[in-house]
Amino acid sequence: MGRGDQGLPPGHRPVDRARPHVLHRLTRFTGALRLNAAPADQNRLLDLQAIDSKLDQLAHRRRSLPEHAEIEKVTADHTALKDLVVAAEAQKGDTARELTKAEQDVEQVRSRAARNQQRLDSGAITSPKDLENLQHEIGSLAKRQGDLEDVVLEIMERQESAKSRVEELSARLEHSTVVLTEAEGRRDAAFAEIDGEAEKVKRDRETVAAVIPADLLKVYTKLRETQGGVGAARLYQRRCEGCRTEFSITELNAIKAEPADKVVRCENCSRILVRTSDSGV
Ligand SMILES: [Zn+2]
Repeated sequence: MGRGDQGLPPGHRPVDRARPHVLHRLTRFTGALRLNAAPADQNRLLDLQAIDSKLDQLAHRRRSLPEHAEIEKVTADHTALKDLVVAAEAQKGDTARELTKAEQDVEQVRSRAARNQQRLDSGAITSPKDLENLQHEIGSLAKRQGDLEDVVLEIMERQESAKSRVEELSARLEHSTVVLTEAEGRRDAAFAEIDGEAEKVKRDRETVAAVIPADLLKVYTKLRETQGGVGAARLYQRRCEGCRTEFSITELNAIKAEPADKVVRCENCSRILVRTSDSGV
């Protein structure tokens, strides 16, 4: 078939030049496959393809739910907030210990001053030198107490801001927990809906796949793996619906010449090309 082209007058060559090559490719594809299947089984392959594409879409929808990105972001915020709360709590604890220590210092100075004052008031000390020393010490202790009380106030201020920071961060952490739980809830609801639909589609698939001959199914499955999930395509209005290649009249004639139970494959994408009444052949 087709070798007669070589003998055409030179005037026909621009039109027919591609033909021997095209025929060679078509022969190669159908010849190498050596697979026959009843047209009805080939048509069932299109049903199976539609089901598998639906399952792929559902799996894609499951993977690309907007909630995934949202949950990832909220989880990161949540973890960062938890760390900040821990750090703020530690700071709050540090200031509490610092305050206790500073208050003890104040108390120590205060009681020492009180004891000195008592001694002064008791009139027991009569030596002018001792009295002067004692009064001098009382003065120093008052100054020291004032300084230590300033330190206490400064620590109290820091403690207050540490407390507010813990409260503010805890409120934000609580809010992020709510947001996270809510996003996870939406994701799980979407999962349940998608999985429920997938279960129904899988049952349909079992019914359809059960009646397709094993050798045809095997070629289809292998092609689906290598051809982006599409193993069988309809030949529709002279085009391969798998790769959108439009066939020339010459190519269509070659396909048409194949028996109806011959499994034809697209010369461009190698998918199983299923002929239907709309194929234009
Ligand atoms: Zn194709």
